[in-house]
Amino acid sequence: MPTSLVTGGAGFLGSHLCDYLIARGHRVICVDNLETGSLENIRHLRDGDNFRFLMVDITSHYEVDEPIDFVYHMASPASPIDYQRLPLHTLKVGAYGTHNTLGLAKKHRARFLLASTSEVYGDPLVHPQPESYWGNVNPIGPRGVYDEAKRYAEALTMAYRRQQGVDTCIARIFNTYGPRMRPNDGRAIPTFLRQALTDKPLTVFGDGSQTRSFCYVDDMMRGLVALAESDVHEPVNLGNPDEMSLLDLARTIIELTGSRSEIVFEALPEDDPQVRQPDITRARQLLGWEPEIELREGLQRTIDHYTRILGEPAAR
Ligand code: NAD
Repeated sequence: MPTSLVTGGAGFLGSHLCDYLIARGHRVICVDNLETGSLENIRHLRDGDNFRFLMVDITSHYEVDEPIDFVYHMASPASPIDYQRLPLHTLKVGAYGTHNTLGLAKKHRARFLLASTSEVYGDPLVHPQPESYWGNVNPIGPRGVYDEAKRYAEALTMAYRRQQGVDTCIARIFNTYGPRMRPNDGRAIPTFLRQALTDKPLTVFGDGSQTRSFCYVDDMMRGLVALAESDVHEPVNLGNPDEMSLLDLARTIIELTGSRSEIVFEALPEDDPQVRQPDITRARQLLGWEPEIELREGLQRTIDHYTRILGEPAAR
């Protein structure tokens, strides 16, 4: 039975990854300091023989006393609300946290996957974004702490590969959504869902013409594990290339929830990317991966989850 260590395993993506790996027959060691994650996300796993939770802040040196085959480095504040509240922590997780986790992978001779992000492309001047694009990032803007932490983490990963011989890969994850996203995490889909399900106005930034591409979490798990279990080491974009404007997303969510909410417009945040769409040619060719779950289907599954945690409409 292979053993996988998942940093950030109590977070949104990390907890789905723990589920997915256990279902594939892995033993999973989940490492988290619960900064933005929650024990609730892994409660159903905690009594299982194949699951172990370690409460660890990975910005300090840490050791694990059992063999490890795969390291999935998912830990990092990820939503703009979180990384702007925790700017120094975000930089430290990208730097010290990645350094410590790469050191652990080296010691255990484990295959290491870095959860990087489409944010390394910043406000892109090339559209859609292929992995060969180097990006357009403002290092001193409010989003810089996250974007640069991830760019540094990628550089560190490549240095460990080139100089230390660690077997590494880099997933550039584009916007992913699904159950367990926190309703107040500030990202577009949870915000619109919370607002729609409570009949509050949906707040669209700018005129809503800026675009995003949204990948359902189950598709992302398949992609991450396919990458980790391949021998690919160059960065690979993982995301759904179906692009839509935020205004259209808001309208779709109102329709699917049957909400009485209206749409209101608010000022565009500084450095908000205008367009965002992955070029997934590399993932298709090297991993045979592409997303399968349509936005409406994924949104419906997420709405079912939000209805459970926010309560039925009559009870709100
Ligand atoms: P999340 O905030 O739900 O999960 C992050 C987890 O990391 C949390 O459980 C948090 O407690 C943990 N963590 C933070 N600092 C830590 C530390 N010092 N030590 C130990 N644990 C720590 O975020 P998410 O959306 O699940 O994102 C997971 C990863 O995927 C992140 O690295 C993020 O940058 C990347 N990513 C996510 C998306 C997305 O759309 N969700 C897009 C691109 C990249």
